[in-house]
Amino acid sequence: MAFEKAQRDAVERVSPQRAVGLTSELVRLDSHNPPGRELAAARHLGERLDALGLEVEIIPHGTGAAGAGEDQGSSDRATLLARLRGGGEQPALVFAGHLDTVPPGASAWERPVTSGEVAEGCVWGLGATDMKSGLGAMVEAVRAIKESGLPRRGDLLLVATAGEEVDSLGAKELVRRGLLADPGFFVIGEPTENGIVTAEKGVLWLRLRTVGRTAHGSLPHLGVNAIVKMGKVIEALQALRLPHHPHPLLGGCTLNIGTISGGVKTNIVPDACEISLDVRTVIGQSNEAVIAAIQAAIEQLRGGDAELAAEVELIIDRPPVEVSPQAAAVQQFMAAHAEITRRREQAQGATFATDASVFIPATKAPMVICGPGLPSKAHTPNEYVQIERLVEAARIYTLAGARYLAGAPAGR
Ligand SMILES: [Zn+2]
Repeated sequence: MAFEKAQRDAVERVSPQRAVGLTSELVRLDSHNPPGRELAAARHLGERLDALGLEVEIIPHGTGAAGAGEDQGSSDRATLLARLRGGGEQPALVFAGHLDTVPPGASAWERPVTSGEVAEGCVWGLGATDMKSGLGAMVEAVRAIKESGLPRRGDLLLVATAGEEVDSLGAKELVRRGLLADPGFFVIGEPTENGIVTAEKGVLWLRLRTVGRTAHGSLPHLGVNAIVKMGKVIEALQALRLPHHPHPLLGGCTLNIGTISGGVKTNIVPDACEISLDVRTVIGQSNEAVIAAIQAAIEQLRGGDAELAAEVELIIDRPPVEVSPQAAAVQQFMAAHAEITRRREQAQGATFATDASVFIPATKAPMVICGPGLPSKAHTPNEYVQIERLVEAARIYTLAGARYLAGAPAGR
C-alpha cells in the first residue's frame, strides 16, 4: 500500500544526529529538582518546535506555594505545550515527558554531571535516561511526521512538564487549565528501555511524628520519650497488613520506612521523632484506605499507651493507574513497535510513578509508557542513554504516531 510506504518513509526521515544532539543539549541545561528551573529547557525545545511550525506555549509556574503567584514573570519554572494542528476529525495524540531531573546526589560522577558528552555509543549526564532522551526522541519524531507531509486527522501535542520528579506541578497545571481537553492517546517517554508499560503503582508518602515531653537525660521518668514511642509505631507498621489484591503486572503493595530523625542531645529526653513512609499501592487499593489503616493502628497503640501521641501528614498522593493492554490505540502502538524493533513486547507494569498518575485519571485516555532510557540508570550516578535505543525510540514514535494520526482505532 502506498500509504504504508509513506509511513515507512517518515521513519527513514528520523535523524540519529538530531535526536542525539537535542538530548545532549537538554542534558547541558541543568533542571534538577528541587529547585527545578525548567524554563531554559522549555524555551530550547520551544524554539525547535516553533521552527518546525508548531504552535508553542510556555506555561510559567509561579514561585508561590500554590503555584499561581503574581510574580510569574520572574519564575524560572515552566511547562511546554506544543501543538501540530490536524484535521480535527479525531482526538489528539499526546507525546508527553518531563523537563526536570532528580538532583545529582552526593556520589562522585566520572564525567561532569551535565556534560551531555557523546561517547561509547551513549549520551552521558543527569537526565540522559530520565528522561531528556525521551523528549529528544519525541521532538525528532514530531519533525519526521511533520516533514513527511502525511495526512493528520487529529492534532499532535508535545508536552514537556515541570516538576514530575516531585509533585507533577506541570501536569496538574495542564489539566487544571483544560489544555489537554479530549486527548485520544498518550505516549509517555519515561525510561523503559523501549519496553511497553500499561500500568503503574500508586505512591503515598507520609510523614509520621510522635510527640513527647522533654526532661533531663538523668531523669527520664519525668519526660515522655518520643523516640521510644516511635519504636512502637515502627513495630506496628511492620506488622500491618494493608488489604489488597496483587496485580498481574504490578505485584503487591509495599511499605518502606525511608527516613527517621529525632532528639537533640544525648542528655535530653526527646520530645519529637519523625519518620517518612513510602507506600506503593496497586489497582483497587485506595490511598485514603491506607492512611485510615495506619491511623487505626496508631489508635490501637494508644489504647495500650495513653502517652503515645502521633500525627500523620500527607506528603505525596498519586493513585495507581492502568489501561487495558487490549485498548485499540495500545494495540496499534504495539504493532508499530514490533515492526520497528522486530520484538513482540508484552505489556509490563512499573513500580515507579509518572505524570500518567495525573493525566490518565483526568482524561480517561489510554496510554503507554515507552522510552529509550534504562530504568536501572534512572536516579543513579553516571547516568547515560544508549544511542541505539534513543534512535529506536524516535522511529517507534514516528511510525506509531503517523499511524494514529492517519486514523485512530476506535474503542478504549
Ligand atoms: Zn522520569
